[in-house]
This record gives sequence, structure tokens and C-alpha cells, in this order.
Amino acid sequence: MSASLPVRIVGGGLAGLALGIALGRAGVAATIYEAGDYPRHRVCGEFLAGLDDTTIARLGIGAAFAGASLHHDVTWFLRERVIARHALPVPARAISRFALDARLAEQFVAGGGQLLPRTRHVLPPDDSGWVDARGRAPSGASPWLGLKVHVRDLVSATGLEVHLGDHAYVGVSRVEDGWTNVCGLFRRRAGLRVEREGALATYLRASGLGQLAERLAAAPRRPGSACAVAGFAFARRVASGAGLQLGDAGGMIPPFTGNGMTIALTGAARALDPLVGWSRGGCSWAETTHGIRESLRTEFAGRLRRATLLHPFLLHGPLQLLLGAAARTGLLPTALLYRLLH
Ligand SMILES: Cc1cc2nc3c(=O)[nH]c(=O)nc-3n(C[C@H](O)[C@H](O)[C@H](O)COP(=O)(O)OP(=O)(O)OC[C@H]3O[C@@H](n4cnc5c(N)ncnc54)[C@H](O)[C@@H]3O)c2cc1C
Repeated sequence: MSASLPVRIVGGGLAGLALGIALGRAGVAATIYEAGDYPRHRVCGEFLAGLDDTTIARLGIGAAFAGASLHHDVTWFLRERVIARHALPVPARAISRFALDARLAEQFVAGGGQLLPRTRHVLPPDDSGWVDARGRAPSGASPWLGLKVHVRDLVSATGLEVHLGDHAYVGVSRVEDGWTNVCGLFRRRAGLRVEREGALATYLRASGLGQLAERLAAAPRRPGSACAVAGFAFARRVASGAGLQLGDAGGMIPPFTGNGMTIALTGAARALDPLVGWSRGGCSWAETTHGIRESLRTEFAGRLRRATLLHPFLLHGPLQLLLGAAARTGLLPTALLYRLLH
């Protein structure tokens, strides 16, 4: 390892950990600075749509998905009514971030990587050899609120559901060990009083999703799993500045696609060979990062643009009705939409 240059990664989420593991397997020393610690619950729908086996094998992270649920189809609800159920072209793996991030962190360390948890770091002005995997960029003016909780024995139509409410949508996804993740994206409501444990149920009711709130209330909760996140924004384009941003740091796709984690992992896989080449003295840092940015832009730019264009259809009453009518009459091209978004 000593003959090659080390890579330093700021952010130990999916992009950072997966890249660190893959670099270690290729004989490149990597250090990860992570502001938080493991295991930890994260606000995330916890299903990965569009992730192929090749990417998992390339990164060498297959073992981290042990016990994951596999969803073959998704059922869509509009204000409690089923509007569509369609097969997923590629089955979606579903696993909690509690398990996935901790397993990846463990694998990274076992492979010789240096992990510095509880260490917030800034990227230096000369960022040669530094990767930005810090996740979504903070956005003070953001109207969005993400809420999630794990429950057991949730009465569920299928393993994967998406519920559209008033300025809200919620994913219900069975993950590992019999837990079901309920995770919603909501437009913040001024004046709505919420407290941590009850916040999700309060927002569900305020969004016209009372039945889902009742199902949630009847299900035993996983202690410590309720969490919230605010202050983030979705991206229309892939980051185009200098340096190397992977995952949400390079642009966050709206969560209804279930594709953010796939983008984080695929980005890490795309960056692997060029970074190994740089580490062995093959190319300058500027050339290396330029090449990776171009490849990420080619792969993800269209997806980000289309997802942000479609996002309002999942949130606003009249547009949701249009979507629901198209779905009920069989006019919604689900296979085409899936291809355009994944
Ligand atoms: C409500 C909601 C639902 C979602 N549902 C889904 C879904 O169902 N499927 C899906 O695929 N995606 C979903 N996503 C998106 C998904 O969570 C992200 O796309 C994914 O986590 C991106 O991985 P990442 O590695 O880029 O960032 P993250 O996983 O966020 O990791 C970034 C890491 O960087 C650390 N960090 C930040 N700043 C610093 C610093 N200065 N120093 C050190 N460490 C730092 C953070 O602590 C964090 O651990 C959802 C997102 C939201 C908000």
C-alpha cells in the first residue's frame, strides 16, 4: 500500500464507505472522517431501486446486504386508495441504514481502512486526494422535512408501498429482521405542533393519511428509531465545480425514486478505477476528477432533471389526481418512467 498515494474521504455514509472499501480491496490506503458514529438510524426510505449486482460486486459489498428484503413490486396509494401496483424491472433491496452503514463501516476497518468517527472535517483548499462524500448540502430555506420510524407487525398490502398525501409522500418498506420502515417527505407546516416520537403520526394526519397513521399507531415501535431531518434541497444537475463530490454531495435526487443510495454506490464504483490510477501516479488530480465528474454527469444528469420535473406530480392535489387517473386507466407508462428515473 505504501507505494501508492492515500485517498481521504470526508463523510462515512454510503458513498464514502463503499468507496473506502473498494479502494482498500484495490490496495489503496483510505481514511474516512465521519461526523457521526455507527450504528445510527437515518431518515431514509431504505429501499434501493435500480441497483445492479455488478455494482455491488465491483465494490465488494455484497455481504453487507445479508438478510435484506427483496421487493418485486410496489403499490401506490393516493389518499388511502390504491391507484397502481406495478412490478419493478429490477427487484429493490431493502435494508435499514442502521444495519447497512454499520456493516460497511466494519468491513472498511476490517479491510485495513482508517475510520475516524465523531470527526467533522473540512475539505482543505488544496483538495488533491480528498473526496467529498458529506451527503446532502445544507439549505437553510428548504421547505422539506423527512421523518421516519421502524415498526413491527405493520399490516401491509405488500412489502413496498408509496402513499401520496397533501404535500407529502410516504414509503412503507419491509426491511430486515421483521422490521418495517415508514419514512415520509413532508412540506413543513407552520404552526403544526410536533414532538419527536409523535411527529410522523401528526404529519401523516395533517397530510390526509389518517389510515396509515392508525396502522402505525397499532404497530410496536423500534426504540430509538424515530428520527427527523430538515434543511436539504433537491438538485436539478450534477455538481460541476472543482474537486470530487460523490453521492448526495454531488446532487440529491428526490426520494420517491428510491434511487439516492444507488446513485451514491454507483458513483463510488465509477470513481474507483480513476482514483486507483491517480493513487499509483497515472494521472494528475485535476485530470482524474475532471474525468470522474464527466462520467457522473453522463450517468446521472438526466435522472436528476427528470426526477425534479416529476416531483410536483407526487405532491400537489390536482397533479396527483392526474397521476391517479392515468394510473387507474392504465395510461401511466410505468416501465418507461422507471427507465427514465433509474
Ligand atoms: C426522506 C428521505 C427518504 C429517502 N429515501 C430513500 C430511499 O428510499 N432510497 C434511496 O435510495 N434513497 C433515499 N433517500 C436518499 C438517500 O438517503 C441518500 O441519497 C443517500 O444517503 C446518499 O448517500 P451519501 O453517502 O451521499 O450521503 P449520506 O448517507 O447522507 O452520508 C453522508 C455522511 O457524511 C457525514 N458528514 C457530513 N458532513 C461531514 C463533515 N464535515 N465531516 C465528516 N462527516 C460529515 C454525515 O454524518 C453522513 O454520515 C432518502 C432521503 C430522504 C431525505
